[in-house]
Amino acid sequence: MAMNLSGKKVAVLGCGRSGVAAARLALAKGAGEVCIFDSNPKATCADAAIRFVAGAGEQEAQAFAAEIVVLSPGIEADIPWTLAFTCAGAPIIGEIELGYHFYTGRIIAITGTNGKTTTTALLEHVLLQAGRTAKACGNYGYPLCELALLPEQPEFAVLEVSSFQMETIIDFRPEVAIWLNFAPDHMDRYTKVEDYFNAKLRVFENMSEEQLAIVRVGEKLPGIKPRVAEFSSVADSGQLCYKDGYIMEGPAQRTKLRGTALEQAHNAENAMAATLACRAVGLSDEQISAGLCSFCPPGHRCETVAEMDGILWLNDSKSTNLHSTEAAVRSQTRPIILLAGGKDKGLDYTAINPMLAEKARCCIVFGQIASQLMNTFSPVCRTIQVETVQEAVVAAAQEAKQGDVVLFSPGTSSFDQFTGYVQRGECFRAAVHKTLNL
Ligand code: ADP
Repeated sequence: MAMNLSGKKVAVLGCGRSGVAAARLALAKGAGEVCIFDSNPKATCADAAIRFVAGAGEQEAQAFAAEIVVLSPGIEADIPWTLAFTCAGAPIIGEIELGYHFYTGRIIAITGTNGKTTTTALLEHVLLQAGRTAKACGNYGYPLCELALLPEQPEFAVLEVSSFQMETIIDFRPEVAIWLNFAPDHMDRYTKVEDYFNAKLRVFENMSEEQLAIVRVGEKLPGIKPRVAEFSSVADSGQLCYKDGYIMEGPAQRTKLRGTALEQAHNAENAMAATLACRAVGLSDEQISAGLCSFCPPGHRCETVAEMDGILWLNDSKSTNLHSTEAAVRSQTRPIILLAGGKDKGLDYTAINPMLAEKARCCIVFGQIASQLMNTFSPVCRTIQVETVQEAVVAAAQEAKQGDVVLFSPGTSSFDQFTGYVQRGECFRAAVHKTLNL
């Protein structure tokens, strides 16, 4: 299975943590020459022992004449800068593909438009609680190449994979692959929704009947080769479904999620997918239930920041597309004051209108797409336009009544006003504390 790197010239593109791990791994596995290239002239490399070129361009790419090009996540495979490194006919592989060839344990891959990080963290937690060795990696946690370098590799790599990473696989084949859901996103990167879908679908490309795909009921996947197990929080079909706060298998109640951090419908989907994956790799139902019930999801995902005067304030700053906002709105049982807005990613928000008409008392829109959202939501729901998150919180405090939930679920990325969803979520939390005098 291991790739033969012996004596090869390897160009690693991108000097972040994944790039450094890939370069170290290539060196450890006998590559003849390894160099990390970064287009940013100010970039620095964390490992002084590795050859590194900052501000690299076409000239450096041609002079190096790589035999293999390893791409860090986040660098696009089809841009001229990347392609310049293939001038000597080198194939481009992703950091995950390289790590795959040298990691000797079992791989559970998780993909989907939303819920990947929650499910990855959840699976790692359940496996560890059950006494197995596991590490969350990929988009979340360790680069897979770093895991492959460990003297004692864990039994499981729980690997969050994005569509971008799946663009650069060749042989990558997980034992279990979870497909949580699919909805249009990243339309600033892809020109067609099909391109995003097909990139994600590659996670199943090298799998066969011997491996398992875990898929949400209703996902319109073309025929795939692995065995399939399905789950649903809305339909009765599928091996597992969710009713009255319980994960059900036919008429049998399996795990009670009501009262746990996973009780909302979208998190129940993550929990069902994790249950099927853990069963497939040999955990008992008791071990799985114990792990699910003791899990605390990572922050900024429908996280409670305050409950005051009967009003619940939720921070769902990690919502960076319409689908996650839709899931957050669907999961609420109280009247909603929705706070949404941020960067223009080219998404269309009209699909959420029927649900807003039914469940939201008011929408407060902010950021670069505020006027687009104002035009979209105002025909179905009272909508207020402001500029900043702080102003949105002040407006929400004026609008909210006892029994409401103020749901900060922006529905797009934060880069118009913030460095990322964490900074945006912290800004929301600080504004709530200030406005409520907490
Ligand atoms: P990802 O890593 O795919 O971005 P996260 O777990 O970080 O996923 O969650 C991203 C957003 O999606 C959050 O707003 C969260 O509340 C929401 N979310 C989590 N799980 C699901 C799911 N199964 N379906 C829809 N939305 C979800």
